[in-house]
Amino acid sequence: MIIAERKPLNEIIEMVTDAKRILVLGCRGCVTVCSAGGEREVEILASLIRLGKMKAGQQCEVIEATLVRQCDKEYVDSIDQWDGQYDAIVSMACGVGVNFIANLRPCDKVYPGVNTTAFGGSAEQGVWSEQCAGCGDCVLHRTGGLCPVARCAKSLMNGPCGGSVGGRCEIHQEVPCIWQSIHDRLERTGKKADMDRIAPIRDWSTAGHGGPRKTVRNDLTV
Ligand code: SF4
Ligand code: SF4
Repeated sequence: MIIAERKPLNEIIEMVTDAKRILVLGCRGCVTVCSAGGEREVEILASLIRLGKMKAGQQCEVIEATLVRQCDKEYVDSIDQWDGQYDAIVSMACGVGVNFIANLRPCDKVYPGVNTTAFGGSAEQGVWSEQCAGCGDCVLHRTGGLCPVARCAKSLMNGPCGGSVGGRCEIHQEVPCIWQSIHDRLERTGKKADMDRIAPIRDWSTAGHGGPRKTVRNDLTV
């Protein structure tokens, strides 16, 4: 899932300084699962904005709503029901949702209520860890299912770098050296010879450094 965390309140309050009617908009997708931008977080942020505005001596009405998803036109179009009732939207979806609203509602002011941090999963209660960087050319078949792009501090395609100590990454000692983990997994699964295969020079054009990427499924287009 996409992981996010709420922006600091003072940043959000500053974004909406001029707004007198604010639509705080959550999303029932990933941000609900990682407790950053679902119904509960909308309620909390809306209350904090009301209090912040009151303390600043500013009048403000806050509408609370949560869409099924903010990355689908079908649901974003339902914002029409609040037309004329707000002068700014604080989206608590990931950056995709904020972009979708900006694309579909050219005259609306839309602000991000969260910082989108990674693609990952729940590691333990209240902790999420990055697992994939969406590089567009997955190599997990060669690396025992562990991602060297997202999980190696240097995104090495032919690791390890030689700096790890006791199986920990030399850059971030709180995490395992993922290349050590890849080695151990390949060994355990009888695929250790894969470590000796030199990965070819990587074409990073699929990885988002050359502008926005698009995925087209001809079998689904009309
Ligand atoms: S290799 Fe690329 S697509 Fe595969 S998990 Fe890593 S970042 Fe994601
Ligand atoms: S110690 Fe391991 S995870 Fe850290 S940068 Fe080197 S190869 Fe990558």
